Amino acid sequence: MAKRDYYEVLGVEKKASADEIKRAYRRMAIKYHPDKNPGDKEAEARFKECAEAYEVLSDETKRQQYDRYGHEGLRGAGMHDFSRMNVDDIFSMFGFEDFFGGIFGGGGGRRRGARRGGPTRGYDLETGVELTLNEIAQGTEKTIEFTRQDRCGQCSGSGAAKGSKPSRCSMCGGSGQVAKGGGFFQMVSTCPQCRGSGQVITKPCNKCKGSGRVPRKRTVKIKVPAGVHEGQGIRVGGEGEPGQHGGPNGDLYCYVRIKPHEFLERDGNNLIAVVPITFTQATLGTTIDVPSLDGTKKLKIPAGTQYGSLFRIRGQGLPDLRSGRTGDQLVQVTIETPTNLNARQEELLREFAETENTNVSPKSQGFFEKLKRHFGNH
Ligand SMILES: [Zn+2]
Ligand SMILES: [Zn+2]
Repeated sequence: MAKRDYYEVLGVEKKASADEIKRAYRRMAIKYHPDKNPGDKEAEARFKECAEAYEVLSDETKRQQYDRYGHEGLRGAGMHDFSRMNVDDIFSMFGFEDFFGGIFGGGGGRRRGARRGGPTRGYDLETGVELTLNEIAQGTEKTIEFTRQDRCGQCSGSGAAKGSKPSRCSMCGGSGQVAKGGGFFQMVSTCPQCRGSGQVITKPCNKCKGSGRVPRKRTVKIKVPAGVHEGQGIRVGGEGEPGQHGGPNGDLYCYVRIKPHEFLERDGNNLIAVVPITFTQATLGTTIDVPSLDGTKKLKIPAGTQYGSLFRIRGQGLPDLRSGRTGDQLVQVTIETPTNLNARQEELLREFAETENTNVSPKSQGFFEKLKRHFGNH
């Protein structure tokens, strides 16, 4: 099978920044993680494909080679063969501590250095939060509901039925690791039977069926800072899935979506409103009401305003997330051509047209006749 383009695999643009690539990989790794898609061979293949893409695009040298020469350029570049690797090993290889280094205390490398079966941090979760432009202008507090896999209360997360205990794994003898190959090239990898825990469950708990986890609805309150942008993630520490063997919980990321506003569109920290005016208003000047975030605002339209003209109402935009400085509202006017003129209006306009010395159509002339005249066919 032909290899897919790495940017396409991660769903990022060619000019994506290192940060964007990290985020995309994190999202994909969670989505296709085999724990979330038990028995799904395709998800596992996608997971490995994402790891391969990330290995290349997260490494400046490899990325340059790939950009210049494509997949050919990576021969001998020291790539992992993910298709042969254990999923857990891949996951910890590009572990989330790389992305959010140091945020869960203890500094970097804690997980990497942890012995197998030792404390492991829980997975991060993600969910969405929809915000109105007004909420973004003010900042707000939102209640988020989501479901996460919590420790099963019946077996305290062990997965073993009441009165039974997990027993030592027969494949690895409890070490969690198995050796593959022979002689010089012997490789040690995570035991496939117990997945590194060193224990297997012989009598599974009936509530969680041996997984040690049960889905539970959670409700959390999040603080949304004023000025957030579409697609930004708000982190709620410790609201991800529980860790294993005493490891800390992962985090929850709430990604911002903006609810469309009836009149206003966002452009960075500015807001844009498109407002129609009549041709007489544009010609003679007027004051109009324009929609803004808090009610309507008066805007003076000078005489002789052209179609598409842009007006600025200072300080009526959104606050900048960092500096807090407020953007502007821009008003673009369009000009409506009047239809269904009454007899008097038409008379006045015809008089006006005569003073302009321009050619206007005679009364009630049909479209096709006009067209003929325009192209000069008689
Ligand atoms: Zn259980
Ligand atoms: Zn084992």
